[in-house]
Amino acid sequence: MRKRLFRAAALAILAGLVVAFLFAVPLMGQLYTDETQKRLDTALSLVCGYSLPEGDRPYQRLAEDAAGRLEGEGLRITLIAEDGTVLGDSEADPAQMGSHAARPEVEQALRTGQGSDIRRSDTTGEREMYRAVVQSMPDGSRVVFRASLSLAGEGQMQATLWGCGLIGIFMGLIVALVAAHYSAGRMVRPLQELTAAARRIAEGEPGVRVAAAPDEMGELSQAFNRMSEQLAAAHTELKYNSERLAGLLQGMDDGVIALDAEGRITLLTRRAQELLGAVPAAASRLTECGGNYLAVQGLLDRAAREGEPVRDTLVLAGPPERILQAYAARVNETREGGALAVLSDVTRIRKLEIMRSEFVANVTHELKTPLTSIRGYIELLKSGPRDEETARSFYEIIEIEAERLQKLTDDILQLSEIESGARDPENETAGIRETAERIAESLRPEAEERGVSFRIEAEPGLRVGASPRRLHQLLKNLMENGMKYNRPGGTVTVTAAKERGVAVIRVADTGIGIPAEHLDRIFERFYRVDKGRSRAQGGTGLGLSIVKHIVSLYGGDIQVESEVGSGTTFTVRLPL
Ligand code: ADP
Repeated sequence: MRKRLFRAAALAILAGLVVAFLFAVPLMGQLYTDETQKRLDTALSLVCGYSLPEGDRPYQRLAEDAAGRLEGEGLRITLIAEDGTVLGDSEADPAQMGSHAARPEVEQALRTGQGSDIRRSDTTGEREMYRAVVQSMPDGSRVVFRASLSLAGEGQMQATLWGCGLIGIFMGLIVALVAAHYSAGRMVRPLQELTAAARRIAEGEPGVRVAAAPDEMGELSQAFNRMSEQLAAAHTELKYNSERLAGLLQGMDDGVIALDAEGRITLLTRRAQELLGAVPAAASRLTECGGNYLAVQGLLDRAAREGEPVRDTLVLAGPPERILQAYAARVNETREGGALAVLSDVTRIRKLEIMRSEFVANVTHELKTPLTSIRGYIELLKSGPRDEETARSFYEIIEIEAERLQKLTDDILQLSEIESGARDPENETAGIRETAERIAESLRPEAEERGVSFRIEAEPGLRVGASPRRLHQLLKNLMENGMKYNRPGGTVTVTAAKERGVAVIRVADTGIGIPAEHLDRIFERFYRVDKGRSRAQGGTGLGLSIVKHIVSLYGGDIQVESEVGSGTTFTVRLPL
């Protein structure tokens, strides 16, 4: 740019100088000729005023005399008769000179009274300017007065002019080139600044400004600064939006994976890694991330093949085993294209669904058994007269089954109440010892029947942060189990103490114990180690499930240790 400006300016200056010079040279020539013509005319008008001398060869003498008088002028004066005969000449002998009748200036003067010509003189051999006028003489004859001047000076002047001109052009050119160099630099500097600033913006530096420049460059730099400000504002806005979006995506409960058109990972949220497993730092494609990611890539490939979003369930072997609902789609909205997968963890929902349907099946089954029994005995009673004893035993069975139904519905209600998460009033506390004593009291008749005794060794005054009703439900289920699954002469011991800031309650029995393989499952709803025995004891299979729910409602925990044949101990930890 700078070089081109400089070259253009230099060429323009050079052309200007040459054109000016080419005009000047002929102009000077013309001025010179005009000046010569003026001098000749003045001389002629003077010479025409001189009187013709008396005596011999008057015209020759007049010519010489006039030339003498105007000596400084370097003039040649020639007088020519109407027939072309040269009458006198200041520089040559007229006798030696031929007829001048055909000379253009003479011919013209005789015709019009005045004539002129420029040519090389036969007499002097130089380029001359001739001016001629016709003068009537006293003897009535007409004589042509001609004055001439050599134009040799013009050639010299032109040579000088050329010399000076070329030197002038050369000097002018040097000065002009220096000036052009300097001003091209000045003109280009703001442009260079703008280019550098634009480059910095292109490299991602926001809010770059350039210094204000004068004239049109000033407008450009102002416009540039405005553009830069707007770009910076847009950049900030974009950054804010993308950070917000990234925050949103990262905070989402669903995992999100985005790929570009070449299948490279552009987004892999923390949640996606939690669900599918950690990713090696260098991995740029799902195929480099291992097992679970291959399944997602498979879904994305399927979506690409089918041209439509795909929804599917992924079961991950674990641990922990997970069930994911996956949505995979090609992204065509953006010019670049790409693919997107969203993963939702539906493990809990699916497990709950399974549990719920199992629960419904279990409840139905549990309700059906006593109902069938009740209906059966009623049918028997209706079918014919029974002796009093048989009838009473039938009524007793019906009563037992009705009680079992009652207990079952009570337990289901309790369980659903605790599961619904309805917390009891805040700041309630319950005394462990009193509660255990009250339960032992209520169970005493049955315990005595079984030959089992209760020992309450809880620290007096120890209270837990739970509702008295819930603590009662909890302890009653544990103590009742201890009594039910015991043997005659056995004991159920309840201890409670403060250990490391929590209340530790132990319910230990000397009963039949639980085989190790069942220990993991006894807290499940309707799970029983020995179905027949449980039923015979009037159990519902929900007791320990209720206990476990109450414990977790208060943020506590429960553990069980057991030895078949010697007894079972349940240890519950609850906040004080
Ligand atoms: P159930 O109403 O049948 O007692 P639970 O949920 O209270 O139901 O207990 C589940 C199962 O765990 C029982 O059926 C029983 O087999 C076993 N179990 C519970 N407590 C004891 C215990 N103290 N000793 C031996 N087995 C027990």
